[in-house]
Amino acid sequence: MDSDTTDHRTADGRAVCVLRNARVPGGAVVDVALADGRVVDVRDPSRSAAAAGELDLTGYVLLPAPAEPHAHLDKAFSWDEIRPPMGDLASAIDAWRAHSEHLTADGIAVRAERAARTALANGTTAIRSHVDLLVGDDPLRGVEALVAVRERLRTAIDIQLVALCPYDVGDAALEAALDAGVDLVGGSPHHTPAPSSDLQRLLRVAERRGVGVDMHTDEQLDPDVLTLEELAKSVRDWPAHMPVTAGHCVSLGVLDAETLERVIAEVRDSRIGVVALPITNLYLQGRQHPVSTPRGLTAVRALLDAGVVVGAGGDNVRDPFNPLGRSDALETAMLLVTAGHVTAAEAYHAVSTGARAVMGLPDAGPHEGAVADLLAVRADGLEDAIASAPADRYVFKAGRLVAASHVRRSLHVPL
Ligand SMILES: [Zn+2]
Repeated sequence: MDSDTTDHRTADGRAVCVLRNARVPGGAVVDVALADGRVVDVRDPSRSAAAAGELDLTGYVLLPAPAEPHAHLDKAFSWDEIRPPMGDLASAIDAWRAHSEHLTADGIAVRAERAARTALANGTTAIRSHVDLLVGDDPLRGVEALVAVRERLRTAIDIQLVALCPYDVGDAALEAALDAGVDLVGGSPHHTPAPSSDLQRLLRVAERRGVGVDMHTDEQLDPDVLTLEELAKSVRDWPAHMPVTAGHCVSLGVLDAETLERVIAEVRDSRIGVVALPITNLYLQGRQHPVSTPRGLTAVRALLDAGVVVGAGGDNVRDPFNPLGRSDALETAMLLVTAGHVTAAEAYHAVSTGARAVMGLPDAGPHEGAVADLLAVRADGLEDAIASAPADRYVFKAGRLVAASHVRRSLHVPL
């Protein structure tokens, strides 16, 4: 803990930190005791004055820390050096690939670490990032960079890496990425000349290596492009230690009701986690429809109602796929409410507890027994936090304060 808090000891010598007077989802105000990286007690606020060093969270709402289930740290903050045209997914891919020969491991690492630190300051304590296997003689420059960033930030952020393998990069590079420390196999089969064969070759590598997969899936608005259904059927019998995630799933949002129900049942029965990515999808999708422009968002409501594990993430940040973005889960939650028509509680669940479930991480939050990855935001409640996204925050990783932001604002107007 830093100077905002102090360590106490239980009778058996364990270090305890107490967060005082925190408002938790549901509205109660409580004291939360942390020890050994977990929440060990949640109780009515003590009437005694805060002890020296205890952290008083009066005026803050205390939440499970967000997790980012789908980032591209290797691409983040490249917009200014690429200066691509604004456009759709195909033009973003073209701009990125044309630029990729100029990428160096050192340059990627600098941008990636900046993005990860920004997310951490905003409350995110776990990130799953895709990393491109690059076309050419040295496909692992991005992998090398992100493995190094993961190691540097190891004590503050859990980083998982997915090899994003283009159809024209072979299995040898993919296997080398896994050897170098990448955790999962990924790709974008729907966007290749032969989606089924690309999907199956990626799944074969994952099976050979005994690792999970995280696919960019059906990131387009044609209801007839539905590799998600083949993915679900292909992994039905996969064991729990090979988790399967499908990101984007935009075409789910434009299916007829009967087909949607059938596909979602397949997804649920195969225990596939689905990741909604509102900001990038809203930016890239629908540009061919100048009137009645579709939202380009997966079927969040139907997935939740069917009991599918749903996470939501920020995807791209200031790169050819999205010129904007704040690396802030509260931004994603806000977009899910406005564009996905879910409640604020459902939206925050998707960027925190749901995202952690997709990533296979243990439950976190301000309740007894949970991992003490926590975010305190100066706000009256969850809706206020999502609406205002205040910068005043404390971020805890396994019970340890890892980021604190304080804003001082003054209005120079007459009262
Ligand atoms: Zn992506």
